[in-house]
Amino acid sequence: MTSRFVIIGGGPAGTEAATSAARLGAEVTLIERDILGGAAHLWDCIPSKTMIATGEMIDEVASAQGMGLTPANCEVDLDALRKRVVGIESILERQKRTLLDSQGVNIVHGTGRIADSHVVVADTAEGSLSFEADSIMVCTGSSPRIPDWATPDGRQILTTRDAYPPPTLPEHLVVIGSGVTGVEFVSMFASLGSRVTLVVSRQHVLPGKDPEVAGVLEDAFVEKGVRLLKGARAVDIEQSPDSVLVKCDDGRLVEGSHALLAIGSVPNTPGLGLEDVGVEMDGPWVRHLDHHMRTNIEYIYVAGDISGKLPLSSVATMQGRKIAEHVMGLHKIGHRHLDYDKAASAIFTDPEIADVGLAEADAFAEGRKVRVTKVPFAASAKALINNDPTGFVKMISDPATGVVLGGSIVGRSAAELISVIAVAVTNGLTTADIAESILVHPALSEALREAAE
Ligand SMILES: Cc1cc2nc3c(=O)[nH]c(=O)nc-3n(C[C@H](O)[C@H](O)[C@H](O)COP(=O)(O)OP(=O)(O)OC[C@H]3O[C@@H](n4cnc5c(N)ncnc54)[C@H](O)[C@@H]3O)c2cc1C
Repeated sequence: MTSRFVIIGGGPAGTEAATSAARLGAEVTLIERDILGGAAHLWDCIPSKTMIATGEMIDEVASAQGMGLTPANCEVDLDALRKRVVGIESILERQKRTLLDSQGVNIVHGTGRIADSHVVVADTAEGSLSFEADSIMVCTGSSPRIPDWATPDGRQILTTRDAYPPPTLPEHLVVIGSGVTGVEFVSMFASLGSRVTLVVSRQHVLPGKDPEVAGVLEDAFVEKGVRLLKGARAVDIEQSPDSVLVKCDDGRLVEGSHALLAIGSVPNTPGLGLEDVGVEMDGPWVRHLDHHMRTNIEYIYVAGDISGKLPLSSVATMQGRKIAEHVMGLHKIGHRHLDYDKAASAIFTDPEIADVGLAEADAFAEGRKVRVTKVPFAASAKALINNDPTGFVKMISDPATGVVLGGSIVGRSAAELISVIAVAVTNGLTTADIAESILVHPALSEALREAAE
C-alpha cells in the first residue's frame, strides 16, 4: 500500500522530507502558506547572507589598495539591493517548485492544521481541503521573539525580518542581542556604512562559543568602529519621530536612529491542532520526541525549528530526510541517528567563524585530555595572496588515537573550510587521514592539513 504522507510547512525540513519521501514512493502532500523554501529563504538564511555578501564586497573594494589597485568607493543602492534579495529568493523558490513537481509532490498553497486523527485540513483561498494521512510531519518554523517592552514598526524598531533592507539605511543602528543573529546584523550594517552599537547582555558576544573566537570578533568590531555596550540588558525602547532611545537595566541609555531586535525566536505551533489529537506539549514546544523525531502520537513527526533542537536550516533539512526514511521504513536497513553534537555551524561575520564538534573550552571544562593544534592564516600563502591573513584554524583531536573531535575556524571562507573537519568528526577520521590527503596549493585548506600534522 502507498504511504500517504502529509507535511505542514514548506521550509528546509518540509521540502527535503517531501522530495525524499516521494523519491522513496510515498504519496506526498506539502502544505505551505507562504513560499517554498520557507522562512529560511524568505526571512532568514538567504536574505541575510545576500546582504552580508554586499557588505563583504564593500569591504573588499575599500581594501583595494592592498591588492595593488587605486582605492575606490561604493555607494549603497537600497532599491537595487532589495531587488537582488527578492531576485535570489524567486530563483530558489522556482528551483524548489520544479524539484517537488518532478517528484510528483502535491503542493497545496494554504494554512495547514491537524483536524482529527490522521486528518489534515488546508485552508486555501478556494476553501478548505481535507487530506487523510498515514503519517503527518509538522515543520512550521519559528518567528522572531518580540519582548513586551518593544513594538516593532518596520521603520525604526526592526526585527530581522524588516531588515532586507529597511526603507532607509540606519544612520545609527542599536542591535539588541549578541548571539549569532545579532552579530551577523552588526557586521552587515557596519559594512553597509551604518554606525552600530551592540547591546551585549553578558561580558562577551556569542555566549556559548569558544571565547578565543568571540575575542577575535570583538576586536574586529572595535576596529570597524562598532560600540560594544557590555553587561547591559535592554529593558525598554522609547521612540520619537526620528530616533530611538534604548534603555538598559543598569540605567545606561543608547540613542540611535534605529533599533534591531535579535533576541531569539518562538516556535510557530499555536493553531496547528497538535494538543487536540493528543500530542503532549510544554507551552509552544512538543514535550517528547524520540530519535526518529516522532511525538508521543506515533504517526506525528516534528522537525526543524519547532523541534527545539539546533535551529539551523542544515539541521532541519537532515531531520526532514531522516523522517522521510523512517516513514518509508528505510531506517530498518541501516540508519544513523542524527548527532546534533556533530553539526557544523557558521557565523557570517567579518571575519567569518565556523565550528563543529567538541570545543576546546568544553574539553577543558570536562577535564578531558585533548590535543589542540592551531595554525594562523598569516602562515598561509593563499591568505597573503588574498590580502586577508586574519584568523586561524584550530583542530581538536584525541591524543591517543588521533581521531578528530572538533575544530573552529576564524577567517575568510571559514564556513566552507569547516566541512573538512565536519566530515572527519562525523566519520571518525583521524588527523593522519587529513594530513596525508594531497590538497590544492595554494589554498586556504592547506592550513587544515597543517593543523592535522
Ligand atoms: C536572521 C536569521 C538568519 C539565519 N541564517 C541561517 C543560516 O545562515 N544558516 C542556517 O543553517 N540557518 C540559519 N538560520 C536558521 C534557519 O532559518 C532556520 O533554522 C530554518 O529556517 C528552520 O527551518 P524549518 O523548516 O523549521 O522552518 P522555516 O524555514 O521557518 O519554514 C517553515 C515554513 O512553514 C510555513 N508555515 C508555518 N505555519 C504554517 C501552517 N500552519 N500551514 C502551512 N505553512 C505553514 C511557513 O510559511 C514557512 O514557510 C537563520 C535564522 C535567522 C532568524
